[in-house]
Amino acid sequence: MAAHLEHLVCDRPASGSPIRGGQSEADAALAAFDVSGYASQRNQVHPEPARGASRLSPYIRHGLLSLPEVWDGVEGPERDVAKFRDELLWQEYARHFYARLGPRTRSALRADPAVRSDSPKQSEDGAEWQSALACVSVNVDELTETGWLVNQARMWLASHWTVRHRRAWSDGEDYFFRHLLDGSRAANRLGWQWTTGAGSNKSYGFSRWQVEKRAPGLCETCPLSERCPIHSKPDEPIRNLVPKSTLLTRDGQLERTSGPSETVTMKYGEVATRSNRPDVVWITAESLGFSDAALVSNPDLPVAFIFDEPLLGRLRLSAKRLIFLVETLAELATERPIEVHLGGPVEILAGRVPAVTFAPVPGFRRLSAQMAETVIHPWPWLAAPHDGPIQSFSAWRRYTDR
Ligand SMILES: Cc1cc2nc3c(=O)[nH]c(=O)nc-3n(C[C@H](O)[C@H](O)[C@H](O)COP(=O)(O)OP(=O)(O)OC[C@H]3O[C@@H](n4cnc5c(N)ncnc54)[C@H](O)[C@@H]3O)c2cc1C
Repeated sequence: MAAHLEHLVCDRPASGSPIRGGQSEADAALAAFDVSGYASQRNQVHPEPARGASRLSPYIRHGLLSLPEVWDGVEGPERDVAKFRDELLWQEYARHFYARLGPRTRSALRADPAVRSDSPKQSEDGAEWQSALACVSVNVDELTETGWLVNQARMWLASHWTVRHRRAWSDGEDYFFRHLLDGSRAANRLGWQWTTGAGSNKSYGFSRWQVEKRAPGLCETCPLSERCPIHSKPDEPIRNLVPKSTLLTRDGQLERTSGPSETVTMKYGEVATRSNRPDVVWITAESLGFSDAALVSNPDLPVAFIFDEPLLGRLRLSAKRLIFLVETLAELATERPIEVHLGGPVEILAGRVPAVTFAPVPGFRRLSAQMAETVIHPWPWLAAPHDGPIQSFSAWRRYTDR
């Protein structure tokens, strides 16, 4: 990290997150997860031992655990399993949504909460997030130190940032994205939009009673406890209506959204009938597991991972995120010869025929379309993408096969 990647990150932690990268860490986390009590405890924020959430998200985000594998891998009381699987479907919904709309997810929804005119611009060190409120500072500290938060704490911070303080939700989204080990444009953006009312008719109002319920004892440690500024719910923000994208109701390019259903050769983004044999497996940050389809199908090929320098230079993620990837690659290197590159993927893979697993994100489509030849393996969807309505989880769900 220090030698090769330090110029790409926004901070300098001495070490990575306590949530370590790697396939064996992912497998152990899934094996250790007990779903009993999940339905009632998943929103518990503090104390830590009372939390019911699985903390599997960093592994799911990077394909160390696929959603179908997690779906099948959890057994326990019916109510808890059903609730847990419902959350996996939210993740799948976020992926479908982002795969179809791409960058248009920023503005394709119903409304945008109005921003205060003197709202501070988000700085890289996140100084604007500092607060004397224990329910804010404890969670911001956890986010920046570990790169993870329970869903409820994410909602608290998002609501506090935008609904109460009228700051741009997209600035908050970017801050979370920099720090979350599971940070994805798909689920993070959806989470911010849903919480702040950009993606629904109503925002989530964060106030003291939720803290007393989900983090008992925290208010007693707060210097503002006696004059709590979040004693009552914030007002509903004024929202500016945004014209809806037609993609919310229909996908005219379903194959592009879902990727191939069987392995295909593509030349500059077009399906080719004649092909050369792949000579390298290209693994991406979306799919780093030992069960990655391209890895499994090509057991004798070398493996390449590329830290996309131009992209990372723009994103300026927290070092924790990159350390998580390095830990994952280090373990993979004990199984397969692996090249780790820094630069632009198109330039680095030029002259080679990479085998790669499709990733349902616009960046993958853009890069692979610039490559002379790629052998693309299908993405392991939990539910096959459909071309119908996607403007809400329930509308989307009606058309899925799950
Ligand atoms: C403002 C905000 C930002 C968010 N940013 C992200 C993000 O960048 N990446 C991300 O994966 N999730 C994000 N979420 C969704 C959710 O908070 C996390 O997936 C969850 O907290 C991860 O912890 P877990 O693995 O213990 O979840 P569990 O409760 O154990 O759930 C199991 C899995 O289901 C999925 N899941 C659970 N809840 C949701 C949800 N509401 N939306 C989508 N998938 C869900 C995740 O893959 C999760 O790992 C965000 C939510 C909000 C409100």
